Amino acid sequence: MKTVEVVVPCYNEEAMLNMFYVESEKIYKTIDGYSFSYIFVNDGSRDKTYPILKDLAGKHDNVKFISFSRNFGKEAAMYAGLCNTTADYVIVMDADLQHPPALVPEMIKQIEAGYDCCAALRTSRKGESKIKSFFSGMFYKFSNRFTDVQLVQNAVDFRIMSRQMVDNIVKLSEVQRFSKGIFEWVGFETSWIPYENVERIAGETKWSFKSLFKYAITGITSFSITPLRFLTCFGLVISVVAFLLIVFTLIRKLAFGIDVSGYASLLIAVLFLGGIIELSLGILGEYIANIYLEAKDRPIYIIQDTNIKESK
Ligand code: UDP
Ligand code: MG
Repeated sequence: MKTVEVVVPCYNEEAMLNMFYVESEKIYKTIDGYSFSYIFVNDGSRDKTYPILKDLAGKHDNVKFISFSRNFGKEAAMYAGLCNTTADYVIVMDADLQHPPALVPEMIKQIEAGYDCCAALRTSRKGESKIKSFFSGMFYKFSNRFTDVQLVQNAVDFRIMSRQMVDNIVKLSEVQRFSKGIFEWVGFETSWIPYENVERIAGETKWSFKSLFKYAITGITSFSITPLRFLTCFGLVISVVAFLLIVFTLIRKLAFGIDVSGYASLLIAVLFLGGIIELSLGILGEYIANIYLEAKDRPIYIIQDTNIKESK
């Protein structure tokens, strides 16, 4: 009998948890030869998520839970779950049933066929605003062009992974986590299965525009120094242009005397360079912030309560 552990990050999911367990069990009971268990990670929820998880764990012995001391974010919750897995295969999925457990039988088939990972690919962005889809598309284009890992657009965090892959992901202990990149960075062969996006049944999305933007910046600064290289090249080009302009202006002054006109060109040059300098400082600042956050080496999460013996 092979073992499968399902890692579920939960933040304010009181309305979903029991339904999630029942719906998952319905599917997993039909898969022969595998024993399924769950690791729910309560990411500092403010609602009844924690007592509900304790209750679930009391009723079913295939339920483990980890409860954080505060909200550390979905990335931290997934990491805590992964660190505490021991099964042959590990599934990561959301608690809100937007990642249909009905895909799991096919995922298991794929991983048995020799893949190290089988991940879900959203075919539609139903229930998502046009603006969000637009920016998400832009992010993938930008990120794939400028970073060394190639992200797959519309890939979601819902996936099954081999023990070997999980062991390697856990080794990447950076504080600023960007799983979409980490999953690709560790390599291993992934098979993709498409699915229709389903809307949330209850509760609400925890992603605001601000948090997505922050996540995107983390993604880029954690996986690429191309923006820094770009600044260097851009600086070089501007320096060459400036040098040519200096020569031109000097010659003009020496040959034709002082020329006082040129207010517009002066202003344009000053504003343009000012903008570029500010932008460069901003980009540099993002990298320094990343170094700062990593250098402090604080734990990624703090566990307040768990029913896992010797939890990590
Ligand atoms: N989540 C979490 N911590 C957070 C935010 C979200 O553990 O700070 C969990 C949440 O409970 C859910 C999953 O991450 O299981 C995905 O969140 P959500 O459904 O809000 O994201 P969306 O589906 O809108 O991308
Ligand atoms: Mg969701």
